[in-house]
Amino acid sequence: MKVPMIMTPGPTQVNENVRFSRATQTTNPDLDLQFYDFYKETCEKIGKMLKTKNEVRVLSGEGILGLEAACASLTEPGDRVLVIENGIFGEGFADFVKLYGGEPFFFRGDKKHKISIEELKNFLDIDSDFKYATVVHCDTPSGALNDINEICPLLKEKGILTVVDSVAAMGGEEIKVDDWKIDIAIGGSQKCISAPPGLTLLSISEDAFKAMENRKVPIASFYCNLLSWKNYYEDKWFPYTPPISDIVGLSTAIDNILKDDNILLRHDKIASATRAAVVYAGLSLYMKDGFSNTVTVVQVPHGIDDKKLREYMVQNYNVMIAGSFGYLEGRVLRIGHMGENAYPDKVSYTLFALQKALEHYGFKCEHDMCKTFLDNSPFVISEKA
Ligand SMILES: *Cc1c(COP(=O)(O)O)cnc(C)c1O
Repeated sequence: MKVPMIMTPGPTQVNENVRFSRATQTTNPDLDLQFYDFYKETCEKIGKMLKTKNEVRVLSGEGILGLEAACASLTEPGDRVLVIENGIFGEGFADFVKLYGGEPFFFRGDKKHKISIEELKNFLDIDSDFKYATVVHCDTPSGALNDINEICPLLKEKGILTVVDSVAAMGGEEIKVDDWKIDIAIGGSQKCISAPPGLTLLSISEDAFKAMENRKVPIASFYCNLLSWKNYYEDKWFPYTPPISDIVGLSTAIDNILKDDNILLRHDKIASATRAAVVYAGLSLYMKDGFSNTVTVVQVPHGIDDKKLREYMVQNYNVMIAGSFGYLEGRVLRIGHMGENAYPDKVSYTLFALQKALEHYGFKCEHDMCKTFLDNSPFVISEKA
């Protein structure tokens, strides 16, 4: 398999030390008590990354499992659930709510803007009778970054539990679970954390566990039941055999993040330099505000087929960026500069290849993207040098 340089918004590139750590000798994670300590330490490190004292659990399954597990564990038949959406993942939460018998109510934002706090406030003043609310930190298909720091405290003030999909943000964007009052924060291994796909991670507050314990109807799932993970350490029991090699790799990936003092600043600089490069070249960003620091989403120029463009980049430059899906299919290109992807050498090469592909299909860049990018990210360059 010839692996291209993946500059997609997940999965991302995986550091060599993560790949090697996955190859270490494994034990029986159910019977060998050492593993319970290793698992606990890994969860505590994740808690440090998320700035939380809440319990953290790592489950076997991609980010989607985390989203479904949060909804399965909190939703009882007939529960009113507020689904805050301005993108595809935001809207998708409603499906999980319905699946477990809840009644989703939408707060719909403008898809090209971050969620308006003012409008959400007005909405909640009229109706705030919801058991919990869901919101996406970075809605990856459009690159919308929402102000979770304002949204979640507002919801908690109204007595609403908060569930945040931070799969494409945590590790690359600031997240302060305790200060921001996030009851369940959900992540995935293969985005900014830069481990291979396969794991979801969740921080779960006391309020969230209480809501699960106070249910009248049992959780209608075994695999998605977060409550059954609550006392694993005391009971020395996992609901199913944990994927030990994946978790060892994740632990190394989290170490990489915690060791990197400038990681958020690096994402911020890389993202703004990338936006400068595409805009200066004459391309248009999809969002009008609420730009994510982990992915840049660019409108496909008129008359260009995004699939062909991306194929050209892989075939000629061995670099892969992404298109999008749903209502954005064929309309945007996505450069994932998150985690291990977020280095100037990788992003500048990607922009070089993108420019070559655009020119091949007849789009003339007004300014050289690679040059604009490098001119706009001096800090990042000097930090790396
Ligand atoms: C990637 C992603 C997920 C998880 O999706 P997978 O298909 O499991 O990778 C969930 N939410 C967001 C916002 C994501 O970007």
